[in-house]
Amino acid sequence: MGESKPTYVRFVQLQSVGILIQTDAVTLWIGVNVMSSSIFPFIVINAISGVLTLILFLYAIFKKETFSFKPAFLSMIGMAVIYIFGHVFELASRSLEEAVFWVKFQYLGLAFVAPTSLIVVMHYAGLEKYLTRKHLFLIYTIPVIMLILCWTNEFHRLFYHSVHLHPHTSAHLIDFEVGPWYIVHGCFTFGSLFVGIIVLLWYFRQTKSVYWRQISILLLAFVLPVLASFLYLMGYSPYGMDPVPSVMCITSLLYFSAIVSTRFFKLAPVARNHIFESMLDGVLVLNRSLQIIDYNGSAKLVFNQLNPTSMGKPIEEIWAVELVQKISDINGKHEVEWASDNQKHYHVKMTPLMKRDQTMVVGYTIVFRDITNQKQIEERLKELAYMDGLTGIFNRTHFLEKSEEQFVQAIQSGEDLSLIIFDIDHFKKVNDTHGHMTGDLAICHVVEIGKSGLPTDSIFGRFGGEEFIVCLPGMNMSEAGKIAETIRLCFETRPMVTGTFSHTITASFGVAQLNPGVDTLTTLIQRADQALYHSKENGRNQVTTDWEQGRISRPG
Ligand code: GH3
Ligand code: MG
Ligand code: MG
Repeated sequence: MGESKPTYVRFVQLQSVGILIQTDAVTLWIGVNVMSSSIFPFIVINAISGVLTLILFLYAIFKKETFSFKPAFLSMIGMAVIYIFGHVFELASRSLEEAVFWVKFQYLGLAFVAPTSLIVVMHYAGLEKYLTRKHLFLIYTIPVIMLILCWTNEFHRLFYHSVHLHPHTSAHLIDFEVGPWYIVHGCFTFGSLFVGIIVLLWYFRQTKSVYWRQISILLLAFVLPVLASFLYLMGYSPYGMDPVPSVMCITSLLYFSAIVSTRFFKLAPVARNHIFESMLDGVLVLNRSLQIIDYNGSAKLVFNQLNPTSMGKPIEEIWAVELVQKISDINGKHEVEWASDNQKHYHVKMTPLMKRDQTMVVGYTIVFRDITNQKQIEERLKELAYMDGLTGIFNRTHFLEKSEEQFVQAIQSGEDLSLIIFDIDHFKKVNDTHGHMTGDLAICHVVEIGKSGLPTDSIFGRFGGEEFIVCLPGMNMSEAGKIAETIRLCFETRPMVTGTFSHTITASFGVAQLNPGVDTLTTLIQRADQALYHSKENGRNQVTTDWEQGRISRPG
């Protein structure tokens, strides 16, 4: 080559033979004139590689499932087909002109295959948001320039300095002396593939182990051509031929394997991640031994302690043993309601995962649906059903239900039980003088004072408009009378204050104690009511106890 020795060299052999490659899907005839039998096996390998890649291309086209990056995947494989067959015909050329034509032809695919592979990987790893129009335009600008320069090389020689027959071999190989844009092409192609490898490695770390096999296959499909190109550029490829098209034979098989064995189309990790991770329900995936093998982001909100080291650990390590037993009980419903430590309520459902032929259970999913809001609404509805809307204490119906329970218990246990009924004095006047709204505030004021003076186990209800009732389990009449008197005094000493207006509210009280064997709850209430009536009759703002037995008293 004289003083200008080429940095990178490519060879094309001139030969002639006919090869018939026949597969189920494709029959391919390549007419070749073999001048050196040593190159013949390489043509065969390249042709097989081309046919395999073509079958992969057709398989991907006709496969019914669609996935978001199918166009990019098809483009990548289509470009590889052009590249490989271009190379086969380059090797089989019978003249320098013919070989140069096929070199140019293969660049229709070769120029774009590496950046398109990168785009496929970015889609696969869920990084499509970076594939904006602007970025795509930038990515494809260099290959387009390269292609134009390659096709118009005769006019500027920026891609190849020279193209001529190789002088030092018995076979008729063509020798290219590379130009500056060939180096740009090399760097760009390597750069794209390296970025692709880095993206796949990054994604490998992000993704859970179920998909590691698929990602590893794709990684290998990327690394092999890179390694082959590297050996080629270092001058280690046989006869100095480009080994990448031959390696594509293995790459295509790897893609087949990714598609067929790990459902590349149906269940690409990115699709799985999008669905699984965007679920609002927390999901745990367990194996048959109830060990955690996967979980989504929402599950981490349910169990703060979930992290990658939880994989393989028994579910009991994060969830209560009795709940695990309950939900996994064969005879049970496989559903539980559970309140977590952080006051959240979950509906939890376990579903077995069957083998594809439905013959055996291979694992389980446990879905945690947050029903806290629903529970709160239920609680609110209960409140509305049980509570008085204005004061928040029990309404009459619920008071009677709760008191009846205590009444029965008191009869059975022989313990004391007393009732207090009280009614605001001259309440009509409050309404008439200050308005209904102030009347409402007065009722609330009375309830607040009443609550503060009652023991915690008492049952406090609004019996009517401004009439209130208290059930005091375990208390005799004298104790109940004292409580009533304390509250009465509080009314006197703590006037209701609204803005500049202050008004002292008083109330009249009636107290009665359960007379076992004689009373029902109704008669007990009646007796307390009679005592109250007596307080009213007697001048109001007083407590009357034990009316029936005639021992009417006004404490204090
Ligand atoms: P007494 O001392 O005899 O009990 O006189 P009183 O004026 O309190 O008489 P009564 O018990 O008959 O009157 C109760 C009044 O309370 C009648 C009603 O308009 C009023 N009332 C009942 N429920 C409410 C309420 O929720 N808000 C307001 N503002 N007033 C109510
Ligand atoms: Mg009243
Ligand atoms: Mg009244």
